[in-house]
Amino acid sequence: MTAPAPFIAPGATLGVMGGGQLGRMFVHAAQSMGYFTAVLDADPASPAGLVAHYHVQSGYLDEAGLAQLMQRSAAITTEFENVPAAALRTLGAHRPVAPGADAVAVCQDRAAEKARFVACGVPCAPHAVIETADQLAAVDDRLLPGILKTARLGYDGKGQVRVEDRPALAAAWQALKQVPCVLERRLDLAFEISVIVARGAAGEVVHFPAQRNLHRDGILAVTTVPAPGLAPALEQRAVDAAGRIAAALGYVGVLCVEFFVLRDGTLVANEMAPRPHNSGHYTIDACDLSQFDLQVRTLTGAPLRSPRLHSCAVMLNLLGDLWFSAGDPDSPQEPDWAALLALPGVHLHLYGKAQARPGRKMGHLTVTAATAAQARDVALQAAACLGIEAF
Ligand code: ADP
Ligand code: MG
Repeated sequence: MTAPAPFIAPGATLGVMGGGQLGRMFVHAAQSMGYFTAVLDADPASPAGLVAHYHVQSGYLDEAGLAQLMQRSAAITTEFENVPAAALRTLGAHRPVAPGADAVAVCQDRAAEKARFVACGVPCAPHAVIETADQLAAVDDRLLPGILKTARLGYDGKGQVRVEDRPALAAAWQALKQVPCVLERRLDLAFEISVIVARGAAGEVVHFPAQRNLHRDGILAVTTVPAPGLAPALEQRAVDAAGRIAAALGYVGVLCVEFFVLRDGTLVANEMAPRPHNSGHYTIDACDLSQFDLQVRTLTGAPLRSPRLHSCAVMLNLLGDLWFSAGDPDSPQEPDWAALLALPGVHLHLYGKAQARPGRKMGHLTVTAATAAQARDVALQAAACLGIEAF
């Protein structure tokens, strides 16, 4: 049973694998619609576990933990990309699970993911799979300079190395412990966008507008919507591509596809996430339905409606660096929330993480405004107020 059964009404309990901030925002959306919630995460202080009605404190493959989550939940979703597909299969044998194990497994492997893009007629970066020394030796010179990425478990720029030439490539594969990798040609990016779609069990698809994303040190820093500089025809192609990919996967749930827009105007798919996405957090405050509302709807079999962007928005990620003065680990400081909240249209979201660390996602803020210029102006003031680099 991988697709949700007929409508699961409010009052039922919805389960989520993973207790991070995405799970927390799912829990908030589910609770506001009258559902009870259960979270499985080993961390007693996980952001979602702290706010759910039930917190199963176990590992993802712990049989007793999975049994407890199933016993509580009418249907189960996931908030963490790397929940073992085997765990989702176990759950899926007894309860509706969305997205299903097979679709999640594709998203967990860069090589499988790229093969799916190509099969759907969606271009991706020229690349080669490197699992053996022979494959390393046979790499086409045209893939250099490139980026070597571990096929599995990479996130926020972790598990990837920029390589200029063959000796650097060989050294990088060594440094990555010779795990299966994908080497991609380094492309000349004009900017990056992402598209979030939600697909129901009957195959209906709705989408958000494409958002433009700025990464710093491999971590999302700023999301802007509507996406500046994105031609409507290109946006439509990205939306169509994301919908095609979801349909080909038989996907049920919220799916995010990241794209590059190259300097020559080409659209290239980068990677996808089988869950709501950091670049979609603005939907909570700037849309009449958020990505988490749609995750609840796809899981419960509720009707999907196209979300409407009612405000221009800029989202800023709040990393743990902001909790230290000048990045010095010995000088902790509390960001000036009062000054931030004095700005118009600022929505502050903190994830309840007790300990700040550099690079750790502690929260985000979304600025909503009637015009793109106003949203950007206030977001720049918010950035200055918190010590975030201007964009
Ligand atoms: P992660 O899982 O860490 O998000 P990504 O594959 O999305 O990994 O890469 C992180 C960032 O690195 C991208 O958002 C982009 O800025 C840059 N990047 C990744 N692949 C390429 C590429 N082939 N060419 C140029 N830049 C790239
Ligand atoms: Mg990425």
